[in-house]
Amino acid sequence: MLLATGWTNALRDFAYRASYQHYSLAVFIYLVMLLTLGKLLGSVLDYYGFRIERRFALSNQRLRAWLWDECKGYLVGLTLAGMVVELLYFVLREFPEHWWLMAWAACLALFVLMAQLAPVILFPIFYKFEPLQDEDLKARLVKLGERAKTRVRGVYKWNLSEKSRKANAALTGLGNTRRIILADTLLDHYSPDEIEAVLAHELGHHVHRHILKSIGVQALTTFVGFWAANWALHDSVDRLHMFETLSDFANLPLLALLASFLGFLAMPALNAYSRFNERQADRYALTAIPKVAPFISSMNKLAEQNLAERNPSRWVEWWFHSHPSISRRIAAAEAWVESARPV
Ligand SMILES: [Zn+2]
Repeated sequence: MLLATGWTNALRDFAYRASYQHYSLAVFIYLVMLLTLGKLLGSVLDYYGFRIERRFALSNQRLRAWLWDECKGYLVGLTLAGMVVELLYFVLREFPEHWWLMAWAACLALFVLMAQLAPVILFPIFYKFEPLQDEDLKARLVKLGERAKTRVRGVYKWNLSEKSRKANAALTGLGNTRRIILADTLLDHYSPDEIEAVLAHELGHHVHRHILKSIGVQALTTFVGFWAANWALHDSVDRLHMFETLSDFANLPLLALLASFLGFLAMPALNAYSRFNERQADRYALTAIPKVAPFISSMNKLAEQNLAERNPSRWVEWWFHSHPSISRRIAAAEAWVESARPV
């Protein structure tokens, strides 16, 4: 709408006046206005999401705590977007010929840095983490790791219960921040064998180097994205005469629109790749644990606790789901038992 009405130009002029014609500062002021506008328009939907989670007792946050999280999320988003957008318009202004290649390379470096820093800087803004104390579980993980000839540097208890009833686990970080995080909602309600099955799945992501590979995939998709952005910006200047230069930051909504559109189109491919990784991690878990039954029961518990859709429609799963449906994961585990059974 900003583009169609030309209001984006009015916002840019205001940003210039407010910054006393200072380019980088004007870019930042424009970004603040754009993100705030987006947040306000989206807040109705955000609140609706919060109400739904409350209604089905998935969230146990009070309104005030939720609002505080929203504020923190907005500020974190503004900080990250601020870094990317300032960088983007700096290269657009200084190197209009090859800006998109340089911006792509810089974003790639930022991805790697963020993957490494997220578990120690980003996640603690929203959740508390502490090293896992349970000696039995630690010993199990060491044994799993030894068999895989690998070592995960840490397992952390993820204090999820203060906000949510859902259970979750993940492999995060890069290099010396690589760690497995296990929600306390999982640790408190699952048997040691079930937790071991979840740990084995996360270890599967580690063994198959999924974080590194995902960064590679991101590099590929953002390369296409920046190429398309270069084309769109040139088209908006040369043919449509919407802006006078590439570095006119009133074109930021155009870039956002393009990124959303391409992101949506790329979803089926990216999610298919993610589901492929998840199946690989599941298969790894099945070979690493002594019995398959705890794997299946942990899946059932997760589905019940998180109110997951066990059998989503094929299309919804294909387009939107990063994980195979629970029913498929259980079916695959059962098929694995059949195939592994000695004749
Ligand atoms: Zn996984």
